[in-house]
Amino acid sequence: MRLIKKAGIWKRFKDNGILEGEVLYKKTTMEVFPIIVPFCNKLKSINFYLVRYKDSLILIDAGMDTEDCWRSLQKILEENHYKLIDISAILLTHHHTDHIGLVNRIVCANPIPVYAHPRAIPILKRDSEYMKRRKEFFRNLYRQMGCGKFGDRQVVDLHNPILLTEDKKIECDIKVAQDLFFDFDILDIPGHAPDQIAFYNRNCKWLFSGDLLIAHMASNAFIEPNLDGVRTNSLIQQKRSLEKCLSLDVEVIFSGHGDILQNPVDIIKERIIELDKKANIYLDIIKSGISTGHDIARFRFNERYEKQFFNIISEIIGYLDYLELQGEIHKEMENGIWQYY
Ligand SMILES: [Zn+2]
Repeated sequence: MRLIKKAGIWKRFKDNGILEGEVLYKKTTMEVFPIIVPFCNKLKSINFYLVRYKDSLILIDAGMDTEDCWRSLQKILEENHYKLIDISAILLTHHHTDHIGLVNRIVCANPIPVYAHPRAIPILKRDSEYMKRRKEFFRNLYRQMGCGKFGDRQVVDLHNPILLTEDKKIECDIKVAQDLFFDFDILDIPGHAPDQIAFYNRNCKWLFSGDLLIAHMASNAFIEPNLDGVRTNSLIQQKRSLEKCLSLDVEVIFSGHGDILQNPVDIIKERIIELDKKANIYLDIIKSGISTGHDIARFRFNERYEKQFFNIISEIIGYLDYLELQGEIHKEMENGIWQYY
């Protein structure tokens, strides 16, 4: 199923291109205007959402800091007879740069409150103490995973898709998103990011879940430190967040990338099954005698490991934690490096 917008209306097409029907995300109190910006990488698109709730207009996530995203926001506003000044708040699902990109531009023109999870605030503000601790965290982590000098080099320029550079710092005050507001329940759904939250409207059965679930691919569970510098068990959190999502009555998931998901139960179950299948692949690698995170990465990913270091090592550490929690493997520190058995 694909959603394509024609003449201002979202239309649902079958995979063979046949039109199934129109999709209007419109209920009495709430209406959603998706902003889907094509993106030339595996994520396919950057999605963020303009939402009318009664007389207020809010923005859920704020795309990337690109002209494409900026123009797309302006276009959707215009098509629906709104102006930038009509937006009254921005809600952020998590701190990644492809979800917060336009915040500074919007707030500069229209000083409105921005809400996020408390854990996101020091990251969004690029708090210097936190940033220092984060770098130290990765340096130690990569050493413990056996990445040696290769890992040290990665820390210098942290090759990752969510590079926390100073120029992406959010300038305005950020408020804590809590409890119920704009008729949304705020749900903690860490895993992809430790500060990820979802906005759930139980009447509409709509869920804005950031990058928890992406229709065409499994979402990465990135390893990150908590604010106190302790490592989050990102993959375990991701699985729990998917299970939490499964327990909700949801008809539509407004995802951060790719297609909007209708009736998402099957795809959530699929993701959980895939996660266990992949865990078994890593278990077999460890059983074969490969014992450090670094060696597992080299064995499974070859030269891709160098190019996508941050994603790959994140995935491996996530699965090692997961297998350890399940009692399938254990680790021992030898000369400062974790060996998994
Ligand atoms: Zn993300």
